[in-house]
Amino acid sequence: MATYKEFHRRSIADRDAFWREQAKLVDWQTPFREVLDYGKPPFARWFVGGRTNLCHNAVDRHLATRGEQAALVYLSTETNEERRYTYRELHAEVNRFAGILAGLGVGRGDRVLVYMPMIPEAAFAMLACVRIGAVHSVVFGGFAAASLATRIDDARPKVMVTADAGMRGGKAVPYKHLVDESIRLAQHPPKAVVIVDRGLDTGMPRTAGRDLDYAALRKQHMDAQVPCAWLESSEPSYILYTSGTTGKPKGVQRDTGGYAVALASTMRDIFCVQPGETMFTTSDIGWVVGHSYIIYAPLINGSTTIMYEGLPIRPDPAIWWKIVEQHKVRTMFSSPTAIRVLKKQDPAYMKRHDLASLQYLFLAGEPLDEPTARWAADSLGVEIVDNYWQTETGWPILSAQPGVEKTARKFGSPSFPVYGYDVRLLHESTGAEVGANEKGVLMIMPPLPPGCMTTVWGDDERFVRTYFSTFRDKLAYSTFDWATRDDDGYYFVLGRTDDVINVAGHRLGTREIEEAVQAHSGIAEVAVVGVADQLKGQVPVAFAVVKDAARTATAEAAAALRKEVMDTVDRQLGAIARPGQVHFVTLLPKTRSGKLLRRSIQALAEGRDPGDLTTIEDPGALEQIRAALAAK
Ligand code: AMP
Repeated sequence: MATYKEFHRRSIADRDAFWREQAKLVDWQTPFREVLDYGKPPFARWFVGGRTNLCHNAVDRHLATRGEQAALVYLSTETNEERRYTYRELHAEVNRFAGILAGLGVGRGDRVLVYMPMIPEAAFAMLACVRIGAVHSVVFGGFAAASLATRIDDARPKVMVTADAGMRGGKAVPYKHLVDESIRLAQHPPKAVVIVDRGLDTGMPRTAGRDLDYAALRKQHMDAQVPCAWLESSEPSYILYTSGTTGKPKGVQRDTGGYAVALASTMRDIFCVQPGETMFTTSDIGWVVGHSYIIYAPLINGSTTIMYEGLPIRPDPAIWWKIVEQHKVRTMFSSPTAIRVLKKQDPAYMKRHDLASLQYLFLAGEPLDEPTARWAADSLGVEIVDNYWQTETGWPILSAQPGVEKTARKFGSPSFPVYGYDVRLLHESTGAEVGANEKGVLMIMPPLPPGCMTTVWGDDERFVRTYFSTFRDKLAYSTFDWATRDDDGYYFVLGRTDDVINVAGHRLGTREIEEAVQAHSGIAEVAVVGVADQLKGQVPVAFAVVKDAARTATAEAAAALRKEVMDTVDRQLGAIARPGQVHFVTLLPKTRSGKLLRRSIQALAEGRDPGDLTTIEDPGALEQIRAALAAK
């Protein structure tokens, strides 16, 4: 077995040979001519000239050897359903969906927006898109109509795929209703909406000529055989929107060949799941973890993936472990917030089931605090692996790689750089590498490895400007995270350098939330900051200036306005972005040049010292923040 260090060294120093070897993990219809074209930095094109297809690699190629093996197991504790699809059945369903899309005129390069709850049809839709070379844009079901409209206008999908409703905690959550609203708001609406009718929203309105019923279409395409479109490796597979410092989310564009290769390698080297074994990722298909580790990686690997619709504590907090026992789950992937939720329950639930099959629990998406990691390790008796990555990269940047070498873990650290990533900790202004135990910005020296974002959808210039422009004289990809490395080479991620916050593993831009608050006509100005929270990591807190003082003159009036503001955020962005608190002030702390002093506001909200205030325009503004916080 190679040592981790040697494996990593080779991935950087002998890049072409290293990735040529990994590329054997997937099928190529036409072999690639060149491993990497880096002629136009920072744009990297991997496996140039190679033709392949994600759906072929995830489904078709397994038919001969594992056609009767379970590919996807769907479990819903919301509707009490359980469905199991073998690779052969999955192949048939994906062909039917591909037939439906092709019949609607969707072809190579066209976009399809998928706004779906956690049901197998969502997976069929995604796989059907990549089968015909269409580009899917999956939008998380928690996002509201206005957010959906922005994503419609950016990607201009030909077709949208949705369901009547989702279920959460036993309550139906409307989907189609929001799609209607988003189409009303959009400038470039799709011409067709395919609806999976689960019978959860009987009053669902339909628009004749636009809305189509999936069940009826499926019947028409029962025997569809749709060939895979052989895409050049760099052709896009999907777009996934993510928040940044501006109000406008970026469409992370992913390639095809590089992504397939990178994911396949991670199943062996990081997640240690063999073909035929089962992986259970508790995320949602609307997030990158869901794309990579509910859908593509386990299927490309010939493993069984579990798709779970439900909460971790319903019908009781042992549900996940019951699933692990019943389905002999080998590797599980979840988030620190989910584990903190379980930590608040009776610990007996953690011990109720036989977890002998389970070797690892991977946790990602937000910092994994040491007490949570330790508690999970002790109560489950399995190894906990913290891994750090981003929507942009699509697969881990920092992680233990037990498939390469079983290195010792340190709680609180996602261990080491993953092969392919030339990670550096750089001084924020000079760009020089910082020493051991010194804080620097976590940066990746380009080219980014295979599978990472290739550009911002429709905006190459924004890709370069956003990610590669920290230093004038050095091209480096910024993760916008602070980190340190200790004397043993272990990394510790310390939080964002920008105005992005992380709520229960979900990334939100404070600027986006501010714009949503300002959509309320009574609000003149607002500052939103992320405040530390024991359960969710961070929660957004808003400090708003009202246009008319009468609206906050009494406690009742203020409470009513507060509720209206929160409802506005729900409508604009979705409940995941709703501020935990809304405070009213008459002035916001700003520098003399008009920049919001968010760090100082955040520090006060967390009970810390506000820091250097020499540039503040009016110190009275900070007093107001203090008073507002004290009044609570
Ligand atoms: P997202 O693109 O939504 O997955 O969010 C990525 C961001 O989440 C990163 O830039 C980090 O700020 C944070 N993050 C993800 N995983 C970890 C981790 N294991 N430890 C600390 N922060 C993390």
